[in-house]
Amino acid sequence: MSQDCIFCKIIAGEIPCNKVYEDEDVLAFHDISPIAKVHFLLIPKRHIESLASCTERDAEILSKITLLAPKLAKEQGLDGFRTMINTGKSGGQEVFHLHYHVFGGDAQLPKT
Ligand code: AMP
Ligand code: ZN
Repeated sequence: MSQDCIFCKIIAGEIPCNKVYEDEDVLAFHDISPIAKVHFLLIPKRHIESLASCTERDAEILSKITLLAPKLAKEQGLDGFRTMINTGKSGGQEVFHLHYHVFGGDAQLPKT
């Protein structure tokens, strides 16, 4: 657990979340400011700062999160969805605990 990390506090149960899924390695919860009808975050329980700080030793957790994304999206009623990982300040990252955004459910997603 990293001190002053809001997502570590959510994992520790110190800050509430609207949970989507949890196991020993991973937590998923709805984003507090959704940008789509369905918008949740998938995070490793172990504090990893960003995708840029991942190494070979994180391969297993990255794979697990990636494979969970479509499964959880389907459970949330999405037949299509978008994943997004903001990395670093200039990549739009605001919370420095690695997280996958998964969102969809609107008639149309913005073109990128
Ligand atoms: P990013 O800009 O990729 O770092 O995204 C951080 C995301 O975390 C934003 O979409 C926020 O709305 C979301 N967020 C911040 N605090 C919370 C919280 N307490 N519960 C759920 N989502 C949060
Ligand atoms: Zn953290």
